[in-house]
Amino acid sequence: MQPIVKLKQTPLLNELTIIRRYHQPFAIYKEISLQDKNWFKTGGDAKFFVEPSTENEFKEALSFAADHNLALFILGHGANILVSDQGFDGLVIRPQLQEISIQDISDQQALLTAGAGVSMHALIDFCLSHNLVGLEEFSGIPGTVGGSVYINLHYFQYLVSHFLVSAQVIEKSTGNILVVDNDWFQFGYNRSKLLEHRYYLLTATFELQKATDIQTAYAYGRRAEIVRHREQRYPASNTCGSFFRNFYEDEVSITSNGKKMIYVAYYLDKIGVKGQLKVGGAQVSHQHANMIINTGNATSADILQLAKSMQQLVLDQFGIIPQPECQLIGFKDYPLL
Ligand SMILES: Cc1cc2nc3c(=O)[nH]c(=O)nc-3n(C[C@H](O)[C@H](O)[C@H](O)COP(=O)(O)OP(=O)(O)OC[C@H]3O[C@@H](n4cnc5c(N)ncnc54)[C@H](O)[C@@H]3O)c2cc1C
Repeated sequence: MQPIVKLKQTPLLNELTIIRRYHQPFAIYKEISLQDKNWFKTGGDAKFFVEPSTENEFKEALSFAADHNLALFILGHGANILVSDQGFDGLVIRPQLQEISIQDISDQQALLTAGAGVSMHALIDFCLSHNLVGLEEFSGIPGTVGGSVYINLHYFQYLVSHFLVSAQVIEKSTGNILVVDNDWFQFGYNRSKLLEHRYYLLTATFELQKATDIQTAYAYGRRAEIVRHREQRYPASNTCGSFFRNFYEDEVSITSNGKKMIYVAYYLDKIGVKGQLKVGGAQVSHQHANMIINTGNATSADILQLAKSMQQLVLDQFGIIPQPECQLIGFKDYPLL
């Protein structure tokens, strides 16, 4: 990548300068592909792109966006996004805050703090190698700590909010850094305060159980079992995972065994879209009815058209409209039902 913009002092966006801090180049780049930075492998370019690796760099990136009146998008590993084929007309910030630290709080518990850019996979590895258990329930799920807190990462009954005790967030409008607790996030299924896009995650602190070697060996086994289970049930590439979030109980009336049927895949399975419905290079996975895959040459427009057909089919047959879990980036108008 060729750096195009230095932060702050240069008003000219085409000036080629780099600030060097901590021996790391910190620069803003122009016209950077997002296609190779998301799991669908579709979409256009970011007008501007920056990878801050410290809080101060993050602040400077926010000031740059404010000074140039740019829209902002914070990118993790791109495992839960669909980027418009026209790209993102603003500044994409991909935090590289990669530190992990442990603080002992009792014989049983420890606090683990991780930067927003740490991958969940690396974090789980780190935990298990330090005899800390809990997060292995999220084994095999792609993404960063930032993306996971944003959506309140979930797998069966486990939510990331069960473990998070505090965090550092940066306010978009001021660059102020706040230390906040679990309640501040107003977590729910697929919900956190970060969805308001007024604050961005810098670090998250999780309370985890200290484990004996035998308990840790069990946790390694649990991780392997989850990964094996996931490999059989879900596609592992060219997808964003579940395209639609499950329904909230008050959105559905159909019950099964006395329970509200909240699972979108249940409705899509009844319609029979799995492995069948296609638009261009986009196809409903043959493994899971709520997952769309790029078979190789899909555009984001193909994926959206397919998703819209899935919504329409569920609406026609069941009177409810699935809503995306996948975050839609760079679209001028809302492109779904
Ligand atoms: C194969 C596959 C399987 C999956 N399985 C699951 C699953 O079982 N359970 C589940 O919950 N999810 C699942 N997902 C979805 C995805 O893994 C999660 O949503 C993950 O947390 C996305 O993290 P990311 O870093 O890739 O975020 P991105 O996709 O890059 O971004 C997602 C959202 O998070 C926001 N964000 C990212 N970092 C920050 C930050 N620092 N501050 C504020 N906002 C931020 C972005 O702005 C964006 O709105 C799956 C995805 C795939 C591809």
